[in-house]
Amino acid sequence: MSAGFKYFFNELKRGKLVGYKCNDCGAYTCPPQSVCQECGSENIELTELRNKGTLRSLTTIYIPPTGLEDEAPYTVALVETNDGPWIIGRLDHDPEKSGQDLIGKKVSIGCQELHPVDYYPDKEGRVAPLFKLEET
Ligand SMILES: [Zn+2]
Repeated sequence: MSAGFKYFFNELKRGKLVGYKCNDCGAYTCPPQSVCQECGSENIELTELRNKGTLRSLTTIYIPPTGLEDEAPYTVALVETNDGPWIIGRLDHDPEKSGQDLIGKKVSIGCQELHPVDYYPDKEGRVAPLFKLEET
């Protein structure tokens, strides 16, 4: 549901990672969807997830979509949150040094505000999850 996404991003701006917890199977769904992503149940409730995870995949974007030229290069990462769901966001790291060696690293999950892009429907207050590597 789009309301779920709006809520997700608003909470993300406040430093909270929210999703749904399934009352049937116990799985977490994040970002929010209308049903449990594990079992399809609608018996789900909003909850806050831990803002920690593990880097599972990443890629550096050198050729961005129209409107994002100023932001490239940047690294997009797939993170497995400690509560289970995998989410996509940006990695707060030198794109030139983002390589295979980062896979498996622990990250904290925060928020990055992106500058408005005219043709995006939600041009005000565009945000994305931002992953920061934790010191080990
Ligand atoms: Zn479920």
